[in-house]
Parts: sequence; C-alpha cells; structure tokens
Amino acid sequence: MIIMGEDAQRVKDRDAQEYNIQAARAVAESVRSTLGPKGMDKMLVDSMGDVTITNDGVTILTEMDIDNPTAEMIVEVAETQEDEAGDGTTTAVAIAGELLKNAEELLDQDIHPTAIINGFHLASQEARSAVDEASESVTPDDTELLKKVAETSMTGKSSELDKELLAELAVETVEAVTVEADDGSYVVDLQNANIETQTGRGTGESELLHGAVIDKDPVHDNMPSASEHADILLLDEAIEIEETDVDTTVNVDSPDQLQKFLDQEEKELREKVQHIVDSGADVVFCQKGIDDMAQHYLAKEGILAVRRTKKSDIGFLRDVVGGAVVSDVSSVTEADLGHGSVRRDSDDELFYVEGHGDEAHGVTLLLRGSTEHVVDEIERGVEDALDVVSTTVSDGRVVSGGGAIEVEVARQLRSYASTVSGREQLAVEAFADAVELVPRVLAGNAGLDSIDTLVELREAHENGDVHAGLNVFTNDVEDTFDAGVVEPAHSKEQALSSATEAANLVLKIDDIIAADELSTSGDGDEGGAGGPGGAGGMGGMGGMGGAM
Ligand code: ADP
Ligand code: MG
Repeated sequence: MIIMGEDAQRVKDRDAQEYNIQAARAVAESVRSTLGPKGMDKMLVDSMGDVTITNDGVTILTEMDIDNPTAEMIVEVAETQEDEAGDGTTTAVAIAGELLKNAEELLDQDIHPTAIINGFHLASQEARSAVDEASESVTPDDTELLKKVAETSMTGKSSELDKELLAELAVETVEAVTVEADDGSYVVDLQNANIETQTGRGTGESELLHGAVIDKDPVHDNMPSASEHADILLLDEAIEIEETDVDTTVNVDSPDQLQKFLDQEEKELREKVQHIVDSGADVVFCQKGIDDMAQHYLAKEGILAVRRTKKSDIGFLRDVVGGAVVSDVSSVTEADLGHGSVRRDSDDELFYVEGHGDEAHGVTLLLRGSTEHVVDEIERGVEDALDVVSTTVSDGRVVSGGGAIEVEVARQLRSYASTVSGREQLAVEAFADAVELVPRVLAGNAGLDSIDTLVELREAHENGDVHAGLNVFTNDVEDTFDAGVVEPAHSKEQALSSATEAANLVLKIDDIIAADELSTSGDGDEGGAGGPGGAGGMGGMGGMGGAM
C-alpha cells in the first residue's frame, strides 16, 4: 500500500526535532548581531533591487525570503511581538532561538520533549511575574521617564542622531491622543495621530502639529494660501460638470446653440460655486477634481480651494476641524463647515491645518529628513517609539534595560527551579540560561567579554540591585533605570511568552511529512552558536546566509 507520493519525505523523532531546531535557530541567530545600540545593521536587497538598511528585527525577518515552515514560525514570533508591543522583536526571536538551543542539549541527555515543554511553560509564567515584580509604575504625566522609554527604543537606529527631539515629539504625540477612561486607566488612540514625511530638510526640523498636514497646493495662483479663522468645507464631490455615464452626442446646428450649451455648463459651475460661497466657506478641501472655470470663480470669490485631497486626509481633517464631509454641494449649509486655521509651511509646499474649538482633535507628526532613505528609517524608528510609548502609557509599567530585567528574571527563575520537581527543573534552569542571552549578546555586540559581564551582573543582582544592567555607552554595569535605559514591561512579558510558545511549538513536532524535498536551512550557523562566547558579534550573519 502506497500512502505517500514519490517525492514525499518523512523525518521522524529526534531527526525531526533536530531538523526543526536547526531551521528555527538559523533564523533566530540571523538577527542576533543587531541587538542593542551597538548592534550591526543589515542591508536587505529585494528582488527589484531596492535596498533597505536596518537593524529592526521584524523588518529583517519579513524581508528575508524565508522558505521553511519551521523558520517561518520564528518569523511569526517577530510579527506577534511587533503587533503586540511595537518593539523587542530581536529580543523575542533571539530568546526563542536560545530556548531551542538549550532544549537541544536536554534532548541530547534523553530528556523527553514533554518535560521540556512543561518546564518551559512553568518558567515562562514565573518569568512574567518576575518582570511584573521588578517593574516600576509610570503615568502619562511622567514625561521625562516616557522620553527615556522612547529614546531607548530608538538607540542604535538611524533615528538616533536626533533621538532627543524625536523622543520628545513621540511623547508629546502620545500624550496628545491619550484619554483617561472611567476606571482610571489610560487609553491611547494612535488613530488620532498622523505621520507625514517630507524630504529636503534636516530631521531636526521635524515637528508636531496640533492638526493636519496636507501635501497639496491651491488649485489657482490667485487664491489666498492661508486663512487664520477659516470656515472649512470638506467635499467629496467634484466641482465639475457631471458627466453622464453613457456617451452622449450633442448636435449643434448653429453658433447660437453652441453658445447656449456652453452657457448652460458655465451656469452649472457657477451654481456649484455659489452654493459654496453662500455657505460662508473660506477654504475648500475637495477629494475630487475642480474644473478650470470653477477654479477661476472660486479664486475670484477669494476662496482657497484644494483638489484631489486624499480620502484619508479628508477623514483626518474632519477630526481636526469638525463639521461634516459633504457629498452634495447643493445641500451645503453653514452647519456643515469645520473651523480652524490654514497656513503654508515655510517652503510653500504643505498646508498646516489646525482645528479651533473643543471638538478639535488629531495631531500630525511631520518628520523631515534629507533623503528618502533617511526619512524612511526615521519613520520606522518613530513609529516604534510611538508604539512603545503608547504601550507604556496604557500598561503603566516600565523595567530597566541593558539586560537588567533579564538577569533579574534569570535569578528568580533559578530559585524557583529548586521548587520544581523532576526533569522540568532542568528545563526551568535552561530557560533561565536562555533569557540571559540578552545581556550576553548586548555585551558581545559592544565588544565586551560576555562572560565577565554576566558574572558581574549576576553578582549585582544577588546583592539586590534589581536595576543593575549593562550600559553600553559607558560600558559599565550600573543602575540602568537611573541611566535612562528603560523599556515597557509589557514588551518584555510579550517577548517571553511568544518566544516560549514558538519554542514549544517546535519541540512538540516529532514527525515531518513533506510533499517535496526538505530544504536544509540552518547548517551554516554551527560556529556562531557555540557557548556564550560565540553569541553576538557577526555570528548571526552566517545564520542568515544559511537560512536564505
Ligand atoms: P529589539 O528588537 O529587541 O528591541 P534592539 O536592537 O532595539 O532590539 O535592542 C534592544 C535591547 O537593547 C534591549 O535589551 C535594551 O535594554 C538594550 N539597550 C538599549 N539601550 C541600551 C544601552 N544604552 N545600554 C545597554 N543596552 C541598551
Ligand atoms: Mg528595539
């Protein structure tokens, strides 16, 4: 009886585990060299030849053309982490890889995968409560602390050069869209915060506007380009002659008739413009087109008009200035208008629209940079910072970085391990070792001896210094909380749980049945993975090559 096709392959038990672990580790180790402020960048070249230079874990992993189901599970760890916390993707992925590496050693000692899975599960729960215990609370008013959180998330990225300003803008942005709920918790609505980018000027000229930024020009040169107290019409109908769907032919027999026809068109346009004038609007943002003749009439009436405004911008403008989005200009009334000020930026390229009145909300973070590459990387950095700050504000807890929280978690896990019986105990200890990968790699990437650093860190934590971490700018073990290296507790908890889930998922598989030949990714990385000393540096590059 033949139950599998000719090309099908089957790998079982220990071989299956080894195969899967290698594949997952190869991916995990490919991003390790980017961890921390002293981490390296990677250059990603897509099939179109477009280049991205980044050290953002999730960007790297999603751009890498990974073609291995197990390796993809690790990519999912990064994606989940990105969605849930906005940062900590490299950490989550690196821990997942290290958990698997340590699990492999236990498997070699004939410990059953189920015991490892159970032990990891217990350890993950304990680790998360250790994070909570070591955390400090933070409120939306702790602007300085929140700025540190934003800065920490941006260090090591291109956005770093201007990180003070960008961190400040990120915190201001989040604070502007935070509301206190009835139960006293804080809700951050990042939907109310737009990001606009512009090339040409330095990043240092980025700014936060309490309103919208519209990258458009007035449709007519004779229109005003600004209005302090504007009544603003948002229109999603074209100010043009309505064209019928069917092709119509108009037969004109005399010049007289032609003139009549043109007069009729002109009249229709005039009427549309008159409706706008009657409503009292000074400014019109139209989502569709505006006929040349209508432009001329609007200019004559001293009305500023903009055509083909993006639909998303119209929606955002509504939030900013109030009023309604009008879809039939003949019915427009004063009540439909929003209110605010409209002005040009100093390069005369953008409109700044700020809302007046209590209803007005919505802010725009205008990011500037010299070139497209610069702005893109800055935008990625700031988006992460916004996520991180908003996670922090809604969760209300921070922990100290530079490996401090990881060493503390490992310490508590080791004392917890003694309360766990059987082989699970070994798995809990293996988990503790895996979490300490973070300080080891941070040290390694900074050119320090990772073992010496770890020993020093463990000692500090034994002495009760919960916030002792490695500051890679001073290269000292110090109180990283005081040094301003702070991260959201939620992000650390999320990294631990998604890393555990992925590792356990991989460990649970004891049989691979593949329709096609299995690709053998991951073989190239054996060197980089051996022992703490080998962690970090460029060791990960080999893994990347192996996985691709
Ligand atoms: P991730 O994708 O996991 O966020 P990063 O490359 O952003 O990876 O690195 C984050 C790690 O860098 C965290 O463990 C954080 O504590 C650490 N870190 C940030 N700033 C410093 C610093 N000044 N000294 C040491 N570690 C730092
Ligand atoms: Mg980060």
